[in-house]
Amino acid sequence: IERTLVLVKPDGVSRNLSGAVLARIEAKGYTLAELKKVDATREQLEQHYAEHAGKPFYEPLVEFMLSGPVVAAIFEGDRVVEGFRALAGTTDPTTAAPGTIRGDFGRDWGLKVQQNLVHGSDSVESAEREIGIWFA
Ligand code: ATP
Repeated sequence: IERTLVLVKPDGVSRNLSGAVLARIEAKGYTLAELKKVDATREQLEQHYAEHAGKPFYEPLVEFMLSGPVVAAIFEGDRVVEGFRALAGTTDPTTAAPGTIRGDFGRDWGLKVQQNLVHGSDSVESAEREIGIWFA
């Protein structure tokens, strides 16, 4: 069964939206396999965001992800990787389509697009790699 890693980022957790986000993923029909609230370590985030190392937004992104707890989940289901990304919406929450998680719950709060509520793996291979980081 295909799996994906979902993170509710610190903005989503601090706004008490974790349950709402998880409920929407379940309502679409995906199955929750693992769930935990975690204070990420810098080491975890450096692995998780390795592809972005060196980009201008990398350090602010890591700092943001360290600013509060995240909720990490594994969801399962046919085509869950692309299905969750469609449900999450595009990166910038201000312009993400209404009906998506980012489009319905997010906007620009002055921190560019870091505060976009959720992360979802971008491929089946990324999902397995990221699950190893968050659910070792
Ligand atoms: P996608 O953009 O393909 O929907 P994604 O949301 O996972 O995927 P990435 O491009 O992998 O986005 O970037 C990871 C995260 O880094 C984003 O979710 C966002 O929080 C942050 N980010 C991306 N681009 C910028 C940027 N230009 N400025 C600030 N933060 C950014």
